[in-house]
Amino acid sequence: MSECIFCKIITGDIPSTTVFRDEQVTAFRDINPAAPTHILLVPNRHIDSVNALTGEDEQLVGHLVKVAGQLAAQEGIAEGGYRLIINTNADAGQTVFHIHLHLLGGSPMKHPMG
Ligand code: 5GP
Ligand code: ZN
Repeated sequence: MSECIFCKIITGDIPSTTVFRDEQVTAFRDINPAAPTHILLVPNRHIDSVNALTGEDEQLVGHLVKVAGQLAAQEGIAEGGYRLIINTNADAGQTVFHIHLHLLGGSPMKHPMG
């Protein structure tokens, strides 16, 4: 069995607050939110990071972003604004090696990034 915590969240072996699910992606609230709305969107199939994406994943990544936009609308933050982030490897602070898109919003964020 996979040791990946997000794979375990997808299968329900680790509980989470799931806000969306279809055949391709699962979205759940971050356990340690960095903004009033902080949702993580993950593919149901394990992929380590952006570095591991292939051409076959293009539709999947597009779908992740589209669902993020739909969830932003559902959360009431689409007009106010939100940020989508994918951290990759150490310099970006990636801590869970199952690719995930952060959806952050609900209050003004600092700019610039980095
Ligand atoms: P990263 O730093 O890899 O981009 O983001 C990992 C995110 O996963 C962090 O924001 C962290 O709070 C979240 N996280 C880690 N473990 C769990 C968990 O067991 N459940 C949920 N819902 N979020 C988690
Ligand atoms: Zn995984």
